[in-house]
Amino acid sequence: MAVVQDNPTETTNTPAKAESLTDILEMQRAAFLRDGAPSLEHRKSALEKLHRLMIEYKQDLLEAISSDFGNRSHHESLMAEVFITVNAIKHCKAKVGKWMKPKRAPIAFQFKGLDGLAKGKVHYQPLGVVGIISPWNYPLQLAIVPIAQALAAGNRVMLKPSELTPNTSELLAKVLGENFSQEEVAVVTGGPEVGAEFSGLPFDHLFYTGSTKIGRLVMQAAAKNLVPVTLELGGKSPCIVGTEANLDRAVPAITGGKLLNAGQTCVAPDYTFVPKAKQELFVEGFQKQAEAMYPTFGDNVQYTSIVSDGHYERIQHLLGDARAKGARIVEVNPHNEDLSSGRKIPPTLVLDVTEDMDIMHEEIFGPVMPIMSYDKIEDAVQYVNDHERPLALYYFGDDGSERDSVIGKTTSGGVCVNDTLFHLAQEELPFGGVGPSGIGSYHGERGFQTFSHEKSVFYQSRFNTTGLFRAPYGKVFDRVIGLLIGK
Ligand code: NAD
Repeated sequence: MAVVQDNPTETTNTPAKAESLTDILEMQRAAFLRDGAPSLEHRKSALEKLHRLMIEYKQDLLEAISSDFGNRSHHESLMAEVFITVNAIKHCKAKVGKWMKPKRAPIAFQFKGLDGLAKGKVHYQPLGVVGIISPWNYPLQLAIVPIAQALAAGNRVMLKPSELTPNTSELLAKVLGENFSQEEVAVVTGGPEVGAEFSGLPFDHLFYTGSTKIGRLVMQAAAKNLVPVTLELGGKSPCIVGTEANLDRAVPAITGGKLLNAGQTCVAPDYTFVPKAKQELFVEGFQKQAEAMYPTFGDNVQYTSIVSDGHYERIQHLLGDARAKGARIVEVNPHNEDLSSGRKIPPTLVLDVTEDMDIMHEEIFGPVMPIMSYDKIEDAVQYVNDHERPLALYYFGDDGSERDSVIGKTTSGGVCVNDTLFHLAQEELPFGGVGPSGIGSYHGERGFQTFSHEKSVFYQSRFNTTGLFRAPYGKVFDRVIGLLIGK
């Protein structure tokens, strides 16, 4: 059953407390139709409020997230949750006035009219009520950034956060419930059943972040009402270390990208391709880098735990299956710490992998890195193209033609060259997947557009020539259409 959060401090236009998901949706839609598109000032003040809440509740959020994970590094949460979120909100606030302005679209000379005054414009209109389903792995960022973008675009929002991070979800429900009217932002908590009910609602747009498997169900449920979806999904994001890449630069970036949040990042490098001759050097480098970053694991609050027993078992299964099928497993655990409690998995390399291993098919979502080697870089490109299109691809090297060839011959949601993860932090770059790694994108202006209806408006000139195109058709029409079509 969905838990609909109370909204004790509502002061103005207080609606009757909604009873069900449908009631909330109807209430938000009625408010949207009643009030119309919110002004720029209203949008900015909603964004300002979100920003203030992130700062005011920063410590509570860090603690809630950490208690949900067992241990989540506060440093990681500050960077990947609070900073990224605040940065996105500030960007929206600074730019929303510009994004909202109708954009002129050029009109072809044939339609400009005799006075040349016909005009075309694209108006950005709020969609209405947007549903957002968010996952556990970055429970703050992946809930609040879409909310900020949906509010910037003038919508009402219903959020369904993940049941795997209950403390964070409850805190978000409380903080948003106390500071936004339920007509504007409502939070409903619950598990997969609530998610299923939620994704079947006739929203004006449904924005889902989570696994590809559930993404399929969400799209099916949305299709019943022809609700447009944005699906931010996962997949196996490869790193390709170029033939002449400098390992001193590649190794820290790849190790750091893999171990952030203990690998539980949608754009984490999933596996790495290295030139055959450099494989052992890469393995040594990864071990040294991991040890330097995390001298210990068990008592180290900077090293994040796996979020749940289920996910811990899933990763152990991937390792056990790979070992049983002949993989060489290299654990980075220099003090042989006993990590059997606390759901921490040390950084682990998996060598000699083969296609029959589950680890080469499932998104790993843990601090475990399969290493593959290639003779020719085309073999790595071929491997990527033989598998599902990933959310991210990482290329390392300074050879421009090799880099451009890898980027041009592969298809991934995004690419980061000579680093990992940081393309996600660029507000001016659309962020999203392709095919099984996602549909649609957001961040910055693209997010505003995702949550807006781009309405085309054509303003006809008073002295126009469209009369020529109406029946009865005769010689003038024949001449004009002949000229327009040409030979
Ligand atoms: P999850 O288990 O928290 O599920 C995501 C959400 O879907 C939750 O709110 C959950 O309650 C809901 N849900 C579950 N069953 C549902 C159903 N039948 N119908 C509707 N909703 C349902 O998270 P997860 O799926 O384990 O998240 C991890 C995955 O998300 C990984 O694959 C990761 O790569 C991907 N991810 C993608 C991005 C991105 O931006 N592309 C970001 C983060 C995570």
